[in-house]
Amino acid sequence: MGKTVHCKCKTGCRTGRCVCYKNNEHCDDKCGCTGCHNPFNGMDIDNLSICVLQNIEEYKELSEEELEEQYKLPCGCEQVSLKKLMGDYICSKCGDAYWYSFCLDEVVEDSFTWHCQICRVCRDWREWHCENCNRCTYGVSLPCESCGRRKHQFIDD
Ligand SMILES: [Zn+2]
Ligand SMILES: [Zn+2]
Ligand SMILES: [Zn+2]
Ligand SMILES: [Zn+2]
Ligand SMILES: [Zn+2]
Ligand SMILES: [Zn+2]
Repeated sequence: MGKTVHCKCKTGCRTGRCVCYKNNEHCDDKCGCTGCHNPFNGMDIDNLSICVLQNIEEYKELSEEELEEQYKLPCGCEQVSLKKLMGDYICSKCGDAYWYSFCLDEVVEDSFTWHCQICRVCRDWREWHCENCNRCTYGVSLPCESCGRRKHQFIDD
């Protein structure tokens, strides 16, 4: 993953005010930041889900022991270590994809849950993000609760 932005923070690079942090990127020597505490620095984030990336500080607090803890998949086929659920894990028996949601504190099925990067929370598959209102709204086939626009109108934009 190439680095796309550079910041000039003076406040530590650990909040959404830092463009690097906001973009789930580490800071490098092209950034003009001082006192950098960007939690992405030195992290290998290639296999992490977007939910993990947006909860990176919580993820970093997990001990090796906690990451080895076994979690039962919702399908019931397998027990998997938390570590493997930090990105998509495909159940070897039923083939469904699962990952651990920090927002919901549980193992979720990829087809039913997604993490909205703009709202920074996990959402039900029936919800979608209305760019017009800048919030998520319920019902994939329903117009936005606030402005009445439909999801498909945004595809051509
Ligand atoms: Zn920064
Ligand atoms: Zn930076
Ligand atoms: Zn920085
Ligand atoms: Zn999430
Ligand atoms: Zn949203
Ligand atoms: Zn709307």
